[in-house]
Amino acid sequence: GGFVALGALMLAVLMASVFGGGALLMRDARRQRQDALQKTSFVSNVSHELKTPLTSIRMYAELLQEKRVDDPARAEKFLGIIVSESKRLSRLVGNVLDFSRLEQGRKRYSPEHVLLHEVVHEVVESMKEALVAYGLDVVFEAEDPELEAVVDRDALSQVLVNLLDNAGKYAAAGLKAVVRIVRGADGSPEIHVMDRGPGISPEKAKRIFEKFYRADDGTTAATSGCGLGLGIARLLMRGMGGDVRHESRTGGGSCFVVTLPGKGRG
Ligand code: ADP
Repeated sequence: GGFVALGALMLAVLMASVFGGGALLMRDARRQRQDALQKTSFVSNVSHELKTPLTSIRMYAELLQEKRVDDPARAEKFLGIIVSESKRLSRLVGNVLDFSRLEQGRKRYSPEHVLLHEVVHEVVESMKEALVAYGLDVVFEAEDPELEAVVDRDALSQVLVNLLDNAGKYAAAGLKAVVRIVRGADGSPEIHVMDRGPGISPEKAKRIFEKFYRADDGTTAATSGCGLGLGIARLLMRGMGGDVRHESRTGGGSCFVVTLPGKGRG
């Protein structure tokens, strides 16, 4: 009797491992297929993203080179487009380069004491013009202008640029975005980037920080992007001992909460 029972048990263990292994292999295959699909759409998104600004830079530069623009005001406007499109291109290339560095763990940080008010103000000012072009006004509020953190200044700026760029792309209908520096529940400083756009449903919110992920809906159909902005923002913040998370906002819209390492002074 005992022998039969032992045999049955071993058979059960064998069957369980065969089925379990099979299921794991299938899951792995599905994941690989999904990864491959995401990579293909990433490459086509990036190529498209590179091509659009390059085309307009070239067109306006050629018009100016051929001296076909007599009106100085128009020439000035074209130069402005060339500059802002080049900036867009640098942002994109910077993001892609940074992403590979971050993924391979090769990103180096230069932490220093920074006055958060100063960094946020600088980023908001540098983005203002681009956001107004999307139809979005930005308001900057600092609860405590003396709050400090030990972070890499450029990395923090990049995180804020990515969040504001998204507010412009997806939430301009809300007309106004608010950037606020506050003291979090545990006393450490936080930066909130809030909008009154369409918000992000809980199912989508689970995935927005994944690489190459773009919500498959009306918001992304009309906008450019390659699904790296939030992934980079989170990797950068985690690399510095902080984080970025998404919260729904009462009254509609999104709130991205950037948490900073350590206790704030002041
Ligand atoms: P990208 O903007 O290149 O698509 P991101 O990683 O920056 O990539 O964002 C991922 C997705 O999260 C976006 O495609 C968009 O669907 C959604 N998203 C990001 N920010 C917002 C926002 N402020 N409001 C609504 N949806 C957003």
